[in-house]
Amino acid sequence: MKEAREKTEKKTFQRKKVCRFCADKIDFIDYKDLVTLKNFLTERGKIIPRRISGNCSGHQRQLTLSIKRSRNIALLAFAEER
Ligand SMILES: [Zn+2]
Repeated sequence: MKEAREKTEKKTFQRKKVCRFCADKIDFIDYKDLVTLKNFLTERGKIIPRRISGNCSGHQRQLTLSIKRSRNIALLAFAEER
């Protein structure tokens, strides 16, 4: 006998994504706020794309800018060290 239940269980996992910065009413992302920035970086130091992070385009752009600025002043590593 086959169980057809598996598929339906996975479907309910879908969640509504809201831009975190909009939710917190942040209109300026501080490049010195590493705790926040790191939430949007992968383990290897790559920026998490918008469709995964759920950010709106405006905030994602600001976030990218902040991360790049942060990298420039060497607060964040450019990539994982080998
Ligand atoms: Zn937003």
